Amino acid sequence: MRTRMLSCSRTVTLLTAYPFGLPDGQMDRKVRRHLRACPRCASWARSMRAAVAFFGTAPTIEAPASVRRRVEAVLGSTSGSTVARKET
Ligand SMILES: [Zn+2]
Repeated sequence: MRTRMLSCSRTVTLLTAYPFGLPDGQMDRKVRRHLRACPRCASWARSMRAAVAFFGTAPTIEAPASVRRRVEAVLGSTSGSTVARKET
């Protein structure tokens, strides 16, 4: 039985939603098949993997207090904000 190949937009959507791997093995195979057949999506996937790897190894830095205060002021002025605040 031959299954339909994923579209480019569906492939990109799946890769964006699951940058560390797809949860469903069958869907994973379909994405891999699409990437073997589609150079454009394969190139996009390589770029995304490189970006994920880069951000995964980037050091985390503490924002200066002045920047945190400005961000908190902006967030605090937004009514109905759902941002969780860290208790201090
Ligand atoms: Zn494609």
